[in-house]
Amino acid sequence: MAAESVSSLIFTPLKWTEQAACRGQHRLFFAPPGERPEARAVREAQARAVCRTCVVLGDCRSWARENREYGFWGGESEEERAAAGFRVDMPVGRVARYPRGNGQPVQPRESRIA
Ligand code: SF4
Repeated sequence: MAAESVSSLIFTPLKWTEQAACRGQHRLFFAPPGERPEARAVREAQARAVCRTCVVLGDCRSWARENREYGFWGGESEEERAAAGFRVDMPVGRVARYPRGNGQPVQPRESRIA
């Protein structure tokens, strides 16, 4: 199989990223170490504004939800994905910030390790 064919098979699921409005704006979409809540609110508002202009928002949101991504994806923060039932695997100390949703705990992701 030609190298081009192999790479298209490998990267096809993320082909939508070629149209991402956030290309080159990584700093808006992932928190720096030790980010304060106020700074996070500003950063995520800026990221949300970029997402509103993005033609692949739906694909992006689905990807992030299905893959329990960290950061701001598809117009959603990690907290918003968790509230929608797609909780991120969080390091100790961050869990308390996450919504539990309608009085019911959000179930942790099942381990992929056999
Ligand atoms: S929806 Fe937002 S995070 Fe997703 S590709 Fe578009 S701009 Fe980037």
